[in-house]
Amino acid sequence: SSEVDAARAAASQADSDAPTLFDKIVAKQIPATIIYEDEQALAFRDINPQAPVHFLVIPKDRNGLTRLSKMDESHRALVGHLMYVAQLVAKQEGLLPGFRVVINDGPEGCQSVYHLHLHIMGGRQLTWPPG
Ligand code: C5P
Repeated sequence: SSEVDAARAAASQADSDAPTLFDKIVAKQIPATIIYEDEQALAFRDINPQAPVHFLVIPKDRNGLTRLSKMDESHRALVGHLMYVAQLVAKQEGLLPGFRVVINDGPEGCQSVYHLHLHIMGGRQLTWPPG
C-alpha cells in the first residue's frame, strides 16, 4: 500500500548515513549552547526545553548509531560513556534532587533526529508515566 511505502521511505531516510543536524552542532556550523565537551561526547541545551534544565548528550561520531536499536557490541563503551557524561553534567547543572534520562527510539518512540542522543531533564518534580 502507499502507506507502507511511505513508512519504508521514512525509515530508510531515518537510518541513512547522511550528516545530521547534530553533526553540524559538533562541527560548530550551527549554534548550540554547549555545556560539556570531551573527545567522544558533547552536551548542549535543548532548544525546546521540556523542563527547567533540559540538555542532550550525543556521541561526536555517531558510529552508525542513528538510533539506540542500531547498537551492537562495538558500541558498548561509547554508550556507557554517554551515560557517564549524562550524570556528570546533571550534577554540574545542580540536579542533585534527581533527574530523568530518556532515549527516544524510532517513530513510536517519537525520535526526530537520527543521531543517538540522551535527553536529561530536571529542575522540577517530574511525573510518571511520560506521554
Ligand atoms: O528524541 P528526539 O529526536 O525527538 O529529540 C530531538 C531533540 O533535539 C528535541 O528535543 C529538539 O528540541 C532538539 N533539538 C535541539 N537543537 C536543534 C534541533 C533539535 O536541541 N537544533
